[in-house]
Amino acid sequence: MIVLRGIQKRFDSVHVLKGVDYSVSRGSVSCLIGPSGSGKSTLLRCINGLQPADEGEVWVDGELIGLRVDGDHVVPLPEKEIADQRRQIGMVFQRFNLFPHMTALENVMSGPLRVNRADKERTRDLAMGLLDQVGLAARADHYPNELSGGQQQRVAIARALAMKPKVMLFDEPTSALDPELVNEVLSVMRDLAAEGMTMIVVTHEMGFARDVADHVCFMDEGVIVEEGHPDTVLTDPRTARAREFLKRG
Ligand code: ADP
Ligand code: MG
Repeated sequence: MIVLRGIQKRFDSVHVLKGVDYSVSRGSVSCLIGPSGSGKSTLLRCINGLQPADEGEVWVDGELIGLRVDGDHVVPLPEKEIADQRRQIGMVFQRFNLFPHMTALENVMSGPLRVNRADKERTRDLAMGLLDQVGLAARADHYPNELSGGQQQRVAIARALAMKPKVMLFDEPTSALDPELVNEVLSVMRDLAAEGMTMIVVTHEMGFARDVADHVCFMDEGVIVEEGHPDTVLTDPRTARAREFLKRG
């Protein structure tokens, strides 16, 4: 479902991604772990085209993201087509970035209404169904500042799902939450995984990675140092760097 080949990314003189090859099969959950600054967020942003890679290819469900092969050349896709591709890739960030002036329901409806000029009644039904799925149907008319961080993050997940994405990317979705609110968000993510959503999750929640991930990648200094089944990578890593990172926990 997701295939990355030779991804390189520089910011001025800083070489952040140094040739990342990575793939995630359809319906599976891959957790990305690694020290702060290792390039995890940058990699997610390359996947959804928020920050195109300098070199390398990103394929999602057989489509090359941001580029089109034209004879012997690879040329950038027009903006509109890039926007279409990006809609198929849901993303949830560390900070719940809901629109503050919209209710939970309006937040979830906003994507489909803006993009597809979708029918308002049908979109409302879809959004209510998604709020129900994340356990927040009763909060549909609340504004973000009337919701806890965990509730806001669940609305953010529902909002991403409203675009019917093929894959969901999560960038430390529970890192900004008070500890007692972490589980309600992880629980929604577990349900999503159980339903067969293809997911990449950058996380420090090793329990989640162990229980839910099909695959774990340990990233350090812009490369994937070690990857495999969570039982191996998290409990018996091959590399000293992964062992050191997991020990620090
Ligand atoms: P992680 O998510 O693993 O903590 P990031 O992908 O956020 O790592 O960052 C990796 C490196 O890239 C860091 O050194 C960071 O300072 C740098 N970096 C990330 N985004 C930018 C940017 N927009 N401009 C300059 N440097 C950046
Ligand atoms: Mg990050």
